[in-house]
Amino acid sequence: MRNAEILRQFLRPATLGVLAAMGLAAAGWSCRRSVDPQRPNLVLVSIDTLRADHLTAYGYERSTSPEISRLASEGILFEQAFSQSPKTATSHMSLFTGVYPPAHRVANWGERQVRRLSDDVPTLATLLARSGYRTEAHTEGGNVSARLGFDQGFEVYQEHRGAEPVFEGASRALDRFVQDENGGHTPFFLFIHTFEVHDPYVPPAEFADRFVEPSYSGDIVGSQEELESLAGGGSYWARNAVYWNRVDRNDPADIQHLKDLYDAEILFTDSQLAAFREHLRRLDLEDETILVVLSDHGEEFLEHGGFLHNALFQEILHVPLIFRFPANLGLASGRRIQSVVRLVDVVPTLLEVLELPAPEHIQGESLLPLVEGDETLARPVFSQWLAAGRIVALRDGEWKYIRVKRKEQLFDLSSDPSESVDLLSARQEVLARLQARVDEIIGDSYAFAETRTTARPPRLDQETREQLEALGYLGVDP
Ligand SMILES: [Zn+2]
Repeated sequence: MRNAEILRQFLRPATLGVLAAMGLAAAGWSCRRSVDPQRPNLVLVSIDTLRADHLTAYGYERSTSPEISRLASEGILFEQAFSQSPKTATSHMSLFTGVYPPAHRVANWGERQVRRLSDDVPTLATLLARSGYRTEAHTEGGNVSARLGFDQGFEVYQEHRGAEPVFEGASRALDRFVQDENGGHTPFFLFIHTFEVHDPYVPPAEFADRFVEPSYSGDIVGSQEELESLAGGGSYWARNAVYWNRVDRNDPADIQHLKDLYDAEILFTDSQLAAFREHLRRLDLEDETILVVLSDHGEEFLEHGGFLHNALFQEILHVPLIFRFPANLGLASGRRIQSVVRLVDVVPTLLEVLELPAPEHIQGESLLPLVEGDETLARPVFSQWLAAGRIVALRDGEWKYIRVKRKEQLFDLSSDPSESVDLLSARQEVLARLQARVDEIIGDSYAFAETRTTARPPRLDQETREQLEALGYLGVDP
């Protein structure tokens, strides 16, 4: 029997009743509370700014992420998952809605086109809430602020500062979900998001010690306390200036030191994820919960002459994507899938796994055929930075096209994975095909957006302003 069929049977109340009567349900679903028909819970963890190739599970030589490696060994890891935007709000909104940036048009605060998500474009939270899920989010706000529409569909949307309070808030949510059950089963959707890995990279000392070269003698600030002290407790921009002004981009030791600190932030965040998973297990929830770990975009360390995430090259768009399904769903575990996939595919995948209908307008496609091993689909990857409107990329097979205003580039990723040899003039026929595909995606997206009500402009209140200043998202976007 195909996995999907097994799943459908599990989710069909009548069938489950038969299984229970045959004494089979106990061997399948965890029966902690009852043999009632139940959908799995869902926990979606977004670790902002986490480039895939700095994770051990993605081949990194350092042990930055033992918990994520464990998760991958128990679940399904997508080796080539790509983001729809290098910018936090835009990427997360494509993740949440399953549509491309020009269809939802939600940009970071401070960008020219900033707007709130239209109430007519349902998010994953909305769709799950409509199906009876309890919904709760623990985030760091900023560019995943409720005020951009990220709270759509959530009963509770809490914003914290730092990975530790975010994961603690999520663990308390689990406690409440369990306490409130009263013997029944109401599935929950929990969204967890942290900026811990985002710059400035100032990890806790015990994590920095794991990777930082003791002999490092440069000027880069290594701790939050030192940064605050040097900046005289000033605004984010004072701290930002102190941090980045002390980086000597021509000194290889400084570049390595930045990576060491970034890796230490990953290790710290991984430890927070481990503590959360431990709590999930203590509450006996892990075997009835789908867990997804991903990021919204990567980070550059001078591969193409820059820092942070202000371009559309692979180091910025290649993100981790790992699913862990409860064993009783009958889906494979410990598998690595090489096909190219996108963040817009996550929502249709989850809806199919949960046997919920996907809205027709969704531009992503379910990954379930890949999980079940019969994928033939070629998935083009469209990405866009909305701020300047015309910064787009399209990956189609081995070809990658990038357009930054009027400057175009074309790379053959099969022979040039680091995107260093521009084949624009040599491959005009490929260029024309990719240009046409970009125009088609943007055209389709705009046609969809036209059918939705205009989004309300967001209000920027004092609390959000402070969060954004702390992250450096006002004025020039880092
Ligand atoms: Zn981000």
